[in-house]
Amino acid sequence: MTDTLILDAIDAFLARDVAPHVHALEHDDIYPEAIVARMRELGLFGATIGTAYGGLGLPCATYADIVERIARVWMSLTGIFNSHLIMSAIVQRNGTEAQKQEFLPRFASGELRGGLALTEPDCGTDLQAIRVTARREGDKYVVNGTKTWISNGIYGSCFALLVKTDLTTEPRHRGMSMLLAEKGPGFSVSRKLEKLGYKGIDSAELVFQDYRVPEDRLIGGIEGRGLQHALSGLELGRINVAARGVGIAQAALDESLRYAQVRKTFGQPIAQHQAIQLKLADMATRTEAARLLVHRAAEMYDRGDRCDMEAGMAKLFASEAALENATEAMRVHGGYGYSTEFTVERLYRDAPLLVIGEGTNELQRIIIARQLVARNPV
Ligand SMILES: Cc1cc2nc3c(=O)[nH]c(=O)nc-3n(C[C@H](O)[C@H](O)[C@H](O)COP(=O)(O)OP(=O)(O)OC[C@H]3O[C@@H](n4cnc5c(N)ncnc54)[C@H](O)[C@@H]3O)c2cc1C
Repeated sequence: MTDTLILDAIDAFLARDVAPHVHALEHDDIYPEAIVARMRELGLFGATIGTAYGGLGLPCATYADIVERIARVWMSLTGIFNSHLIMSAIVQRNGTEAQKQEFLPRFASGELRGGLALTEPDCGTDLQAIRVTARREGDKYVVNGTKTWISNGIYGSCFALLVKTDLTTEPRHRGMSMLLAEKGPGFSVSRKLEKLGYKGIDSAELVFQDYRVPEDRLIGGIEGRGLQHALSGLELGRINVAARGVGIAQAALDESLRYAQVRKTFGQPIAQHQAIQLKLADMATRTEAARLLVHRAAEMYDRGDRCDMEAGMAKLFASEAALENATEAMRVHGGYGYSTEFTVERLYRDAPLLVIGEGTNELQRIIIARQLVARNPV
């Protein structure tokens, strides 16, 4: 299937299977089982997995277009396959051939779904401070500790789990490893986390109590590379969060453009008032600029170039654009923007996640600045 055909199929899926149901599912915070089944049929769980392993093998630029389109209709759906594909990318880039053969086809079909388990109750940004441990015992690792805020934690069954295999090594990242953890005895979900927005998708706290993982589930087969593995998946993660930002920013603009032409005050559509025109112009310009940054980062990713700075810039700019556009859309809608019957209130609740997830925007600025200095030594 060509990329154009795939994008057409996504548009048809969104119009028929998603748009009519978003309001009810979102407001009641219901996991969209039927939609997930359609996402499996469309191959979304294997979008960026290589064709040799049963995936669609799409370039990141096409993937970003898909994420933008879906986020325009309901951002939560993108989370159901995004963190799953980050886990898949980590295995595809760093796993042993046996791990790739065993897991990637099952990830690609969506038979085995899950995500990325990095964050803990006491640390998110400072990942080297994690406290989940994996102690070697015979041919197994015995895992203990708690992860939190894990997307797909309830409905997913396999996670790329960041652990400490050595608590004493310096620098601390040399003691970090990543395991492919499938649910089983000792691995439980302690609670579902309630959220401002991003409803429908499950965010959960995961508890490990003497959970045993076979040694061949150590990604890449070598201890001490866990942080590197996690970071190798985050470039893709940041591009997709940025693409979500473009989707939200565009949806806020679409809603505002429509409303501004039908709502009248002082005898004319509010789109004729200069104060509203200024907002629409700024919203459209921000959205377009964000989209260009996402495409640039995605094209670099597809060429295999290092793109942590570019992915960081795209994530930073697009997520702030989403937040600003969602706020402006609410103003354009006046009192109706505050009504749960209108789409813009959902955009307003969903957008803030983007400045936090996949590394906060404060962290993105730090990454960008470090890269600027590293790439321009004097
Ligand atoms: C809905 C949702 C879904 C999520 N899904 C996942 C998931 O699937 N997997 C997963 O592992 N995690 C997930 N997360 C967690 C998310 O990645 C973290 O919340 C995020 O990385 C920030 O970590 P923290 O919450 O611990 O904040 P902290 O690290 O405690 O940061 C608090 C504040 O301090 C700032 N800060 C921290 N360090 C610095 C510094 N050095 N310089 C300047 N400012 C700094 C931060 O930017 C932030 O403003 C999810 C979170 C949410 C809300």
